[in-house]
Amino acid sequence: MSGFVDKPEPVQVPGLVHLHTGKVRELYQNAAGELVMVASDRTSAFDWVLPTEIPDKGRILTQMSLWWFERLADLVPNHVISTEVPEGAPADWAGRTMVCRPLRMVPVECVARGYLTGSGLLEYQEHQTVCGLALPEGLVDGSELPAAIFTPATKAAVGEHDENVSYEEVARQVGAETATQLRQATLAVYSRGRDMARERGIILADTKFEFGYDDDGTLVIADEVLTPDSSRFWPSDVWQPGRSQPSFDKQIIRDWLTSGASGWDRHSEQPPPRLPADVVDRARSRYVEAYELLTGTSWQ
Ligand code: ATP
Ligand code: MG
Repeated sequence: MSGFVDKPEPVQVPGLVHLHTGKVRELYQNAAGELVMVASDRTSAFDWVLPTEIPDKGRILTQMSLWWFERLADLVPNHVISTEVPEGAPADWAGRTMVCRPLRMVPVECVARGYLTGSGLLEYQEHQTVCGLALPEGLVDGSELPAAIFTPATKAAVGEHDENVSYEEVARQVGAETATQLRQATLAVYSRGRDMARERGIILADTKFEFGYDDDGTLVIADEVLTPDSSRFWPSDVWQPGRSQPSFDKQIIRDWLTSGASGWDRHSEQPPPRLPADVVDRARSRYVEAYELLTGTSWQ
């Protein structure tokens, strides 16, 4: 079982058409045909969208994404038009709203990995490959890869896992030219992000980008970028290959959910319980810490 514990009712705003409820974000279209993406404070773990929100998470991750977009703009154009809250929308949308150019999205989850873990590790353990790419032997959970790799996946529905595919499969689906552009942009943006994060005490183990084409046929980076929701952030100071790394944001939540205290069995059909206040506080502090480390500015 997986999905939403409580499916949220999207806020209706006059002049905006609600398009989609994602795990974390609500998507609208405004009268100008632009996309309005509003990040909520929802969080997910073990394929469930939890019934408890983490205050400020939506604003922190939106600000992080915007911070990155600015620093990546010389590598690839992005979809952000403004951060203006549409007229008539709740005031609390401020700081977590992005008005974006609607793009013709490429239906590929563009994953870059600089470290081995997760689904990459599983494939490696079986075939010594990730998405069909051969890797050196002797790597363990958390190992840094000799060079970052492009490991695309096809998008799955809420509650299901994306499926890793080979580069050749992507080329077959979207054409060789687009596949080449996706790989090039993915690796360039990831490498920049990894290097900048590393200087700030964060290991950006892997990440997922989404790209689309604008009317001129230019490849544009869309969605959110280099946030803990789209990436694995590991604190550098406790990185130790050979075990699963504590993640910057979700570890506190995962640890509590799998502890006796939660009373929850994640392999059962039962939805996860609500998080206690101290777990929420600690998780929130981790998001704030990641934001502050990364940007070097304090979270007001
Ligand atoms: P989840 O991320 O929770 O698995 P999701 O990807 O369906 O689900 P969101 O990430 O909340 O939902 O919604 C963002 C949606 O908008 C995605 O489908 C994404 O591909 C799409 N999207 C993002 N940026 C653009 C854009 N500039 N133009 C068109 N579609 C976009
Ligand atoms: Mg998404």
